[in-house]
Formats: sequence, structure tokens, C-alpha cells
Amino acid sequence: MSYVLDSSALLSGKDLLLDDMYCTPEVLREVRGKGPTTQLLSMIETKVEVRSPTEEAIAEISELAEKTGDSKRLSPTDVGVLALALDLGATILTDDYSIQNVANEMGLSYRGLSFPDIDKMIEWGYRCKGCGKYFDEWKKECPICGSQIRTTPKATSHISSASSDKNE
Ligand SMILES: [Zn+2]
Repeated sequence: MSYVLDSSALLSGKDLLLDDMYCTPEVLREVRGKGPTTQLLSMIETKVEVRSPTEEAIAEISELAEKTGDSKRLSPTDVGVLALALDLGATILTDDYSIQNVANEMGLSYRGLSFPDIDKMIEWGYRCKGCGKYFDEWKKECPICGSQIRTTPKATSHISSASSDKNE
């Protein structure tokens, strides 16, 4: 199993014990610009192989991001991360939800770091279009006013970066 790490993944320093780690030259530049500790930087430089994605993969990712509406939220560096993962068939390690979303659409595997995955982050609820009342369960129509019920994000759970990673 190989991994492509974005700058958030590299800077977290969390997963640097994995095998077969890759990043793009742009990601490494970003990391250097964030002023990492010498220790972290030397760990990255010895453990992570720097590779550029192919033009074909970049084109493919850009086209898909256009379709998913993520293209404006993705930097060229993000596109490079996705493209390299596509080239290598690697798992992406990132906390960036736009990268995760495009990876998902592309059928690429990804994993978050300190944050839970995108699906776990959103708690879904059901809300009446008419009176606006929230329900925990889906109902065909509102028992109060009879309007349609739609699925809506109830609340974004508070995320603690200190959450444990015991199941890794
Ligand atoms: Zn209602």
C-alpha cells in the first residue's frame, strides 16, 4: 500500500511511519514554507519520496473537479496530490474536504488525519420544509403540518484534534 500525503498530513507528522510515502514537489515546497522543525523536515526528506504526477492524471483530475464543483476550492497543489495518487494507485492522506470529495468521486481511497472522515463529521437530520421542525427519523410527511421532510445536516459536530487514533 502506498500513500500520497498533502501538506497537512506531512505537517501533522502523524503518519510518517508508514511505508511507501509520496508527495509532490509543490507539497514539499508548501511544507518548507510553513517552517517545520528540523526534525520533522529531515524525517520527511528521508521517508517521503518526491514525485510529480503525469500531465494525463492532472488533466483527468481537473476535469472531474470541474464537474463536482470543487475546482475553485482546489489549489494546483491539491490537484497535484490527487493526480499523483491516481498515477500510483495510492491512498491519499489529507484533511482537506475538497480533496476527499474529489478522491471519492474518482474512486481513489483517502484517509483523514486528526479529523474524522467527511461522512462522520456531518450529522444528518430531517427537517420539515413547512414548519421547520427537526426530526431524528425520516418521515414521509410532517406529523405537525403535513409538509414534506427533507434530509439536512443537523449539526457539524465539534471536532477535537486531540481525538484518539487507537484503531489505526
Ligand atoms: Zn411541519
